[in-house]
Amino acid sequence: MKLYNTLTRQIDEFKPQNPPEVKIYTCGPTVYDYMHIGNWFTFIRYDLLMRTLLAEGFKPTWVMNITDVGHLTSDADSGEDKLAAKAKREGKTAWEIANLYTKYFENGLKKLNFITPNYMPKATANIPEQISFIQKLEAKGYTYQINDGIYYDTSKFPRYRDFANLELDEIQPGARVEYNPQKRNASDFALWKFSPKNVKRDMEWESPWGKGFPGWHIECSAMCLKYLGPTLDIHSGGIDHIPVHHTNEIAQSEALTEQPLARFWVHTNHILMNNVKISKSLGNTITLEDLADKGYSPEALRLLVLESHYRSQSKFSWNSLASAQARLLRYKNFAVRRFQPTGSDQLMPPKMISYLANDLNTPKALAELEAWLDLAESKTLQLGSIENAISLIDQLLGLNLAGVKDIPGTTKDLIAKREQARKQQKWDLADALRNDLQNAGIVVLDTPNGPIWQYLN
Ligand SMILES: [Zn+2]
Repeated sequence: MKLYNTLTRQIDEFKPQNPPEVKIYTCGPTVYDYMHIGNWFTFIRYDLLMRTLLAEGFKPTWVMNITDVGHLTSDADSGEDKLAAKAKREGKTAWEIANLYTKYFENGLKKLNFITPNYMPKATANIPEQISFIQKLEAKGYTYQINDGIYYDTSKFPRYRDFANLELDEIQPGARVEYNPQKRNASDFALWKFSPKNVKRDMEWESPWGKGFPGWHIECSAMCLKYLGPTLDIHSGGIDHIPVHHTNEIAQSEALTEQPLARFWVHTNHILMNNVKISKSLGNTITLEDLADKGYSPEALRLLVLESHYRSQSKFSWNSLASAQARLLRYKNFAVRRFQPTGSDQLMPPKMISYLANDLNTPKALAELEAWLDLAESKTLQLGSIENAISLIDQLLGLNLAGVKDIPGTTKDLIAKREQARKQQKWDLADALRNDLQNAGIVVLDTPNGPIWQYLN
């Protein structure tokens, strides 16, 4: 299996440390609002990576964290805690906000038919681990204290700029709100933030340095170490994370363990709508509920995601979603052939895995599937061939074709009656029955091997 590795900036053969085990970590959601399709695009990509690893015979352990504290409105340790700000606006506690949107996220994973991560640790449930991590960095001389917290001194980690190829001079302190002038270097970041004086935060903990809460980056370093050990096989996240969050994770983890944090770094590109990024701050977000209101299924969104490559900028439009839903209907109508009289033709399932195992080339895998369907639709397939294909498509793409339901017996009776009317040349009756079937969302195709029914939508 081959994967593009951000670390080497090329497509490399993927070899985990202890095959077939794969230690994989994904930077998860910050649970302060409803997930939007931009978020889901990213996570569906990692579900696809998991499915490909499994199909390739690997045994992945997947950790995805839940950020429920410490992610500030600016990635640069300034502004408000996103959860605290939301809690204030909604008259709830930060704990209530975290609970609400964590459940919402977990529910979305189910709706979208995700492979469940093995661990989904919350930042707030791993505070001692984060404090201990910071203490160890402190003992090694990487930290310093200023008025609002404990900071990581990036000048002590000479490879700091390597990962992102950052020009540190380009980080303009003035460009960031509430920049703390006590910081030694513009790129230094908070490990522990003190609770503001005279303010009781909903989420705050005692620490050796004073009451406060962890910075955003330290949770990932602490949880990678706790759940997967010093070196991951794959660390993944959105492309936005490269210059700050992942660079900081590397600085923290590698300073502590003196081992590489990850062998492979996999990053997904943005999704654009009308040529702008989909993001909460731009107010152009769409949720799964918005899709459902317009009659689109979660599987249609999943298919739309897979139509583009994870390293390219993908585009969302309602038209492209409608095309994906039409494409999905074709797959579903292949799946319902297992409920109908089948033939004797045998066909091997589509060879999508060869494309997926080559840097997750989903566009080519889907093209292969479509070409295979052209062939399959021209044949009267054996039941086994149909079932094998459905099971493989579901395993690799997570489209839940096995969940497509049979029609009720009463609808089947209508189909039989129409067939009988046709044989007796009662054309008016046959047409009337065809209309009844259409009203029930079913179309009947008359083939040389008899009638075949399909869903209309
Ligand atoms: Zn992270």
